[in-house]
Amino acid sequence: MQDLLPRQKEIFRYIEDTVRGVLESYGYAEIGVPVLESTQLFSRLVGEATDIVEKEMYTFEDRNGDSLTMRPEGTVGVVRMGQENGLLFNQIQRFWYAGPMFRHERPQKGRYRQFEQIGAECFGMGGPDIDAELLFMCQRMWQALGVSDEIHLELNSMGTAECRAAYRSELVAYLEDRRDGLDEDSLRRLETNPLRILDSKVPKTQELLADAPTLTNFLDEESQAHFDQLRRVLDQKQLPYQVNPSIVRGLDYYNKTVFEWVTDSLGAQGTVCGGGRYDGLVEQVGGKATPGVGFAMGLDRLAMMLDDKFESTAGADVYIASLGETARAYALLLAEDIRGNLGHGKVVVHCADGKLKSQMKKADASGARVAIIIGEEEVSKGEVTVKHLQTGEQQSVSAEGLIGHLSEILAGG
Ligand code: ATP
Ligand code: MG
Repeated sequence: MQDLLPRQKEIFRYIEDTVRGVLESYGYAEIGVPVLESTQLFSRLVGEATDIVEKEMYTFEDRNGDSLTMRPEGTVGVVRMGQENGLLFNQIQRFWYAGPMFRHERPQKGRYRQFEQIGAECFGMGGPDIDAELLFMCQRMWQALGVSDEIHLELNSMGTAECRAAYRSELVAYLEDRRDGLDEDSLRRLETNPLRILDSKVPKTQELLADAPTLTNFLDEESQAHFDQLRRVLDQKQLPYQVNPSIVRGLDYYNKTVFEWVTDSLGAQGTVCGGGRYDGLVEQVGGKATPGVGFAMGLDRLAMMLDDKFESTAGADVYIASLGETARAYALLLAEDIRGNLGHGKVVVHCADGKLKSQMKKADASGARVAIIIGEEEVSKGEVTVKHLQTGEQQSVSAEGLIGHLSEILAGG
């Protein structure tokens, strides 16, 4: 679990603000769901035989003996929330959320045990047009963040549960014949969740899969038509994508469209956003059948992509230095006055001991354009020294004229 230092947190905030702007422009409403849910919500809906439920959940008993789990993902909590509040059946909804998720994974670059996601979930729209809209929206987010050149889209269809069952038995037959070549994890999955083997990162297993049957050939007519129509709309918009039959996502609830946005710039942890359709999930939480589709993006990985080019806007615009006790008390009041009347800008008071020289060093380091210097003499005369930090020019300004003077400097170059 990582600490977020100021620069990193600022990048996270920038991503969230930018992404929120795009979500709002598509009519999404922000929602909040709890970090803790009952364990069985995840084990039942994410799926007993998934990595998440098998080995990644932070699960504990609370004081009542109820088994709770720190959410490893957002979708099932949103579906539960929607169902409990009567927001899903026969309605059209576009929701988004942001917040931490928890998975007990092996920590490595781009993979943490607490990480931040922004997710979008849509309900009541069963056709491929909303899938396309979601992908257009993602593309717009990457553009707004300035990373669209480094991210590409991989797309697949998982069909219905029936097509998957038919495919599953073919895949198992194929792999049974090649057991000797499989890694230990894949051998285990052969019994529990064979489709997950497609996702294996073991090179030898990947080689062996090259000639395996693909799910794409098992799609029923409706899933195929859905997928074809989605591809047509993406083509019309000239949104590039690759069909990748090995994208099966790590959770049980997906059907039809699934996708991942991937970058090559982060090494092995290259998926920055993943999602797809989950038309059966609302029924599984006890609601009436309502189609759903959504995605979640990982802020930690996006932040790593932005780290090189991100320019911080933290720091100060005006830095107030003071010498002596009276001047320091005056500085505090003056800063309040500036904040109240200037209407914008960041005003930082030194608020500690220090020679003028060291205070001015802090002023420079803060990035401020202006330093205000207050000594005992200035206080008694009702004026302050204003120093333009880029040019080094300085002048005395009366207390009454100060706000006007600062606005002028801060508005100018
Ligand atoms: P991966 O294949 O990388 O394990 P995943 O399929 O488990 O990803 P999802 O459940 O689809 O991931 O989550 C969506 C996004 O959340 C991922 O694309 C990734 O950006 C981010 N994410 C998932 N797990 C982690 C983690 N442990 N640390 C940081 N980010 C993560
Ligand atoms: Mg994972």
